[in-house]
Amino acid sequence: MVLQKLGIIGFGASAIGFLKGLVDSGKMEKYQIVIFEKGKDQMHNTISGVRMDGKIFISRSMGGEIDVPLDIQAKMVEFYLLHSGFKPTIKNEGNFIEYLRSFEKDGKKIEFGESFADEEVYRRFYHQGFEPVKAYFFHLGTDILKQTNQSIYEYFSSFKNVEFRFSSKVIDIEIGTPFKVVTEKGEEFYFDELVIAVGRSGHELMDRIKKKYPHLVSENFYVDIGVRYELPNHVMEKYWDMYEIKVRYKTRTGYLCRLFCQNPAGKVTLEKYEDFTTVNGFSDTFDKTENTNFAVLVTTRFTEPFKDPTGYGKNLAKLANILAGDDRKVLLQTYGDFKEYRRTKRLGRVRPTLDERSYILGDANLVFPAKIRESIIDFVENLDKVIPGVAYWDNLIYAVEVKFYSNKFNNNLVSGLHVVGDCSGWTRSIQYATSMGYLHAISSGG
Ligand SMILES: Cc1cc2nc3c(=O)[nH]c(=O)nc-3n(C[C@H](O)[C@H](O)[C@H](O)COP(=O)(O)OP(=O)(O)OC[C@H]3O[C@@H](n4cnc5c(N)ncnc54)[C@H](O)[C@@H]3O)c2cc1C
Repeated sequence: MVLQKLGIIGFGASAIGFLKGLVDSGKMEKYQIVIFEKGKDQMHNTISGVRMDGKIFISRSMGGEIDVPLDIQAKMVEFYLLHSGFKPTIKNEGNFIEYLRSFEKDGKKIEFGESFADEEVYRRFYHQGFEPVKAYFFHLGTDILKQTNQSIYEYFSSFKNVEFRFSSKVIDIEIGTPFKVVTEKGEEFYFDELVIAVGRSGHELMDRIKKKYPHLVSENFYVDIGVRYELPNHVMEKYWDMYEIKVRYKTRTGYLCRLFCQNPAGKVTLEKYEDFTTVNGFSDTFDKTENTNFAVLVTTRFTEPFKDPTGYGKNLAKLANILAGDDRKVLLQTYGDFKEYRRTKRLGRVRPTLDERSYILGDANLVFPAKIRESIIDFVENLDKVIPGVAYWDNLIYAVEVKFYSNKFNNNLVSGLHVVGDCSGWTRSIQYATSMGYLHAISSGG
């Protein structure tokens, strides 16, 4: 049998899903596979959830804009759990949530949460105007993810037809028969099928592809801009059993504001891009802090003739870096000072979890346009009515947090080309990126 040559660019969540899909659908042995990864090895620390936090959920309404059946989502969670050293303690007899919840490692159950399972809580948010998003969460934790990545790498590299090429940054591709792949070192490779799975950190390559093949992508008009919010655990503790509170709210400016990526007893961290720095959050399984953090983001939509929402977000982030005096620092302010237009000179009771070398006490009012500022405040004030303490004056805001939406890639136009995961514009989570890769592999020609 002549093996089909398959190239995979990037080894993150979506590539993992694609490879698993090939295994599950029995197509693995039909291919000779080369995986290009710009990281120096499987343990490299490119910013991504598969390496940074590992909160994997099952939900119909968050994390991506593709339809993923719940049993496929459950399969993805099971895969990550098994490769993290967790083992089921009951048989899978159809109730996949019960089955996944039973996973244990060293006698410790997997951290699990179910958002808005309590009808009373659901209604409380609903009556205050929030739209609660339902989901199940499984949290691996940063400290475990190293093992997860190592185990997944060992599993796929055990297939004789799979070759990993680390420190191989792909800088260009050419669509054709065959597909051409060019690396930074000037090497050229040719493939019958090509998977592009470079995530958000692959934006340079994606920008190039979009310029070369504009007919394959649709315009994007959105960017989510806001802050990382940090407050004492005891304010949020009551809601910890659901692990993540994810709600949307239509603010008085007309803009939609959302709370997501909650990290109980977690830490705020920097997200470093080439020429600017934003904020994010994560939590370790064992190294707990006294604070909880989450993102408060305003969805900003533009219309023609403006065509650069990503540039808009980047420039606001850069402005915060400029005010912080360094492109690797962000602004930190108390919520009370932010509300009163005062620069923060002194913090109150909440101690920041971000390293003090990474922020400057400042005034985020010098960064945010009024509509975004008003939306954040309206959101926090209303949330405080449901969770008293959220609007304490000395809670912390870190600016800027940005979530970029990629242009959406049309996968139906070129046969043999799969653009999957966050770089496709269709996903923004481990679950949806992995599932998208998986669904492409099981439905591909093979
Ligand atoms: C700090 C942080 C925490 C997060 N936490 C969570 C979380 O807890 N739960 C969750 O669901 N989501 C989380 N996310 C989002 C999640 O990580 C992504 O949605 C998901 O990893 C996307 O998968 P992907 O395959 O598209 O990209 P990735 O997983 O990012 O993989 C892309 C891979 O491609 C490689 N690459 C990029 N460019 C090139 C190139 N030119 N040549 C070769 N290789 C290249 C990268 O090095 C990377 O390994 C988090 C994101 C960040 C930044």
